[in-house]
Amino acid sequence: MHCPFCRHADSRVVDSRTSDDGASIRRRRQCPECNRRFSTVETASLSVVKRSGVTEPFSREKVVNGVRKACQGRPVSDDDLALLAQRVEETIRASGTAELDAYEIGLTILGPLRELDEVAYLRFASVYQAFNSLEDFEAAITVLRAERDVALDEARPSDDEARSEQG
Ligand SMILES: [Zn+2]
Repeated sequence: MHCPFCRHADSRVVDSRTSDDGASIRRRRQCPECNRRFSTVETASLSVVKRSGVTEPFSREKVVNGVRKACQGRPVSDDDLALLAQRVEETIRASGTAELDAYEIGLTILGPLRELDEVAYLRFASVYQAFNSLEDFEAAITVLRAERDVALDEARPSDDEARSEQG
């Protein structure tokens, strides 16, 4: 690895440390030419297979750009989008997948986007899942409502009996 200070063609590792979550290794390196030290972080590479068959490295920026359009006019900040992209990357890394396609990335985006903003979620899902009728929207909204009701139910512990009667 090149020295970032003097561009010397070589450097040596003086220390290696694995991160707490085990997902990366941080190496301390020293340049034998100018003796300055610098760090590198090594992570497993995540590749995205495009429809054309070409692979490219996973990019959080592309996730943000893909979601940003759906968030137009919604109360979603750049920080929210950055956090969403981070969650998407963490979910993918936790799954142990090294290579995935755009469709799988879209699937991973849906969950955190729904928590962030339901309208943006519907917009994104309508493009990504190719909604082509009002019924598609109605079905997605029905699912959103049902899950919201479940969340309300869980907030009401005294409802336990009523729910068990319904099976
Ligand atoms: Zn150097």
